[in-house]
Amino acid sequence: MHNTMHNRLAPYAVSDTNSRGRRIHEDFPTGRSQFQRDRDRIIHSTAFRRLEYKTQVFVNHEGDLFRTRLTHSLEVAQIGRSIARNLGLNEELVEAIALSHDLGHTPFGHAGQDALNNCMKAYGGFEHNLQSLRVVDVLEEHYAAFNGLNLCFETREGILKRIPKSRAPELGELGMRFLHGHNPSLEAQLANLADEIAYNNHDVDDGLRSGLITLAQLEEIEIFARHLHHVKQHYPDIAGRRLIHETVRGMINTLATDLTGQSITRIRSAAPDSPDSVREKPVLIGFSDAIKQQQQELKRFLHSNLYRHYQVKRMSNKARHTVEKLFATFETDPALLPSEYQHKFQEYGYQAIADYIAGMTDRYAIKEYQRLFAITEN
Ligand code: MG
Repeated sequence: MHNTMHNRLAPYAVSDTNSRGRRIHEDFPTGRSQFQRDRDRIIHSTAFRRLEYKTQVFVNHEGDLFRTRLTHSLEVAQIGRSIARNLGLNEELVEAIALSHDLGHTPFGHAGQDALNNCMKAYGGFEHNLQSLRVVDVLEEHYAAFNGLNLCFETREGILKRIPKSRAPELGELGMRFLHGHNPSLEAQLANLADEIAYNNHDVDDGLRSGLITLAQLEEIEIFARHLHHVKQHYPDIAGRRLIHETVRGMINTLATDLTGQSITRIRSAAPDSPDSVREKPVLIGFSDAIKQQQQELKRFLHSNLYRHYQVKRMSNKARHTVEKLFATFETDPALLPSEYQHKFQEYGYQAIADYIAGMTDRYAIKEYQRLFAITEN
């Protein structure tokens, strides 16, 4: 099994043989590839299990059917793997990146991240991509021989989607591409766009389910309208959830097919012969211009109608308040931290407070807030 796997990888794909390896040497795994091992370590991590109770747009207690960061990450992995296979890329690497790309996210989605970044201004700021890397490099306490998960360079490279240039030098080999203007592996480029396909489409689906956006509004958006009418043409009596699911399914399929076709064309013309030559080429994984524009129209729609909907904004406001209050309280008096984090405070300073808060699930943050401020809780 193991040997045949490599036969379908294209020369520009990352493989066990051309990988830059792990920071701490480990023997080659038996019965699985290096990137299967990475994926397996991610799935067994504590941060991965917490994704179940962390959200992006809707807070966890708002409903059982909305996406969480866990189901989002699984959708990214599914979309990424299908496309990877068609491009001759390393499916296991795409999967490992997809499953770990959100590990460093704070509770309460972007509102939580922005709030924590503000709180951390005086201590170097807070950035979720860097935090995801910190989770897999430092924070996970699972192995006897090292901190973190000791993942391969290429998995870590994929996790570190973007960072402020000023932070690049401290990251060694991993930061170099931000200084040199190089790109990451094709697997990382793909995971990034699979993320975009996943969240745009599930936010449409969750947005409709929540009632915050409507079908009538979405009929003004080209890519949605086209797929909606296509479904209605073939199934004139279709309605309700089934109509929405078929439409979203069609959109995901169109985006994945377009991305595959466009990327094949670009890869053919750039003709990279190794993952390292990929890094010096322009971005090779991408949508056609037409589809890119339609995606952007949909994104703009979601921004103004869903993410800025007053009900979402009220929840974001509460989230910001909760994170700021937690941070300010621990900042003023670190002795209020749980003992484990008081030790970490000795070691990492205020970053330890950010680690503690970023690691919280939505409901843990709410509970911790009550424990700190409600006299009846402890
Ligand atoms: Mg994501």
